[in-house]
Amino acid sequence: MDNRAVSDLLDLIGKGTSPYHVVAAAANRLESAEFRRLDLRDKWKIRRGGAYYFNVFGSTFVAFRVGDVDGPIRLATAHTDFPCLRVKPAPEVRTHGYGKVNIEVYGGMIRESWLDRPLAIAGKVALRTADPFSPDVRLVDTNRPLLTIPRLAIHMNPAVNKGVELNPQKDMLPLMTMTGKQADEAYFLPCLAEAADCQADDILSYDLTVYPWETGCLCGAKNEFISSPRLDNLTSVAACLAGILDVDTNDASKEALSGLRMIALFDNEEVGSRTKQGAASLVLPQILRRIYRALGCDDETFDRQIAGGFCLSLDVAHALHPNAPEKNDVTNFPVLNGGVVLKTACSQSYAGDAEAVAVIRSLCDVNGIPCQQFVNRSDMRGGSTLGSILSANLPMRTMDAGAPILAMHSARETMGCSDQNAMDALVKAFLR
Ligand SMILES: [Zn+2]
Repeated sequence: MDNRAVSDLLDLIGKGTSPYHVVAAAANRLESAEFRRLDLRDKWKIRRGGAYYFNVFGSTFVAFRVGDVDGPIRLATAHTDFPCLRVKPAPEVRTHGYGKVNIEVYGGMIRESWLDRPLAIAGKVALRTADPFSPDVRLVDTNRPLLTIPRLAIHMNPAVNKGVELNPQKDMLPLMTMTGKQADEAYFLPCLAEAADCQADDILSYDLTVYPWETGCLCGAKNEFISSPRLDNLTSVAACLAGILDVDTNDASKEALSGLRMIALFDNEEVGSRTKQGAASLVLPQILRRIYRALGCDDETFDRQIAGGFCLSLDVAHALHPNAPEKNDVTNFPVLNGGVVLKTACSQSYAGDAEAVAVIRSLCDVNGIPCQQFVNRSDMRGGSTLGSILSANLPMRTMDAGAPILAMHSARETMGCSDQNAMDALVKAFLR
């Protein structure tokens, strides 16, 4: 099997330790393929055949290639965020000689899975400058295990194997140090300042993610699985990057590009998407309209292209669990290494209608890409993703799809290696 897709995914997971780092890694990869950065605050000069990207408020990433404006719009989306702990302001909590870190919970994490693991911190810090409206913003990653949340011993909690409720304010505070005799000496900001290479006094603010320090690995008798943090949803981010890189407008052996090919990787999916950089934001419709204006298109032409466009919204799906098969639907149950999953729900928690399913199934058939379908058990609510939210502001046919995984929202999730190849192949075929 070609394992390029898997090694690219593991590389992205290693680098993508916060949404800001996911965006930075995406920008690095595309810059080496000569994508040019555009800024939302500037007036743009866009040339047909060109390749461009935006960093939207640091944690959302949009990249596109554009050819003839009369051709179709194809958009592949994913999300850059993942359930985690976030560090609060005034983070030091001292008790009995222990120095802990005050956190809040971001997204629907499986709290128990974060215990007894080495944890590190990544994100951004905003530093004081002479101009209050322009703080110096730096990415920071401690890159070493700095924290841990120890479990209570079984002797102190004999019922632990029957399941334990964890209170996020009491039970989830990571241990960082022993304060010992210097009980007043700060321990958090000096450590952060060292990682950010700045003075602690200059740190005005930060957005910091606590992440599992151990990265992903292969496992299984034939190395057929990936066990890793952040598979939700870096599996889809990796596929989107592979897809847009494959659309090469300068390759003479390929046909000239007709229309627009775009990827949009949004922050804040795990908390509902209703933010300035989330999928419910007007930022993507604005970007699209401005691209078409910059190419000399009128509004009517633009609206016609939106109406005829297609969005492939990529996020992970629940594979059938080997020890709990009864949790999935009785006839629509994806399994690991069974291929890309098409997700539908009559509640529209997943976007997709008969035509959208038909288009993607047909695309898979023509390109020899395995695919399977997911529908919730009728007595379970299930999850949702950004497809329906995005398409409400950007009315085009939209299909939710993604890789089947186990243990979604655990500190470590499991997926099949060949499903990453199927994801890459689908996004490449879709954006071609
Ligand atoms: Zn997700």
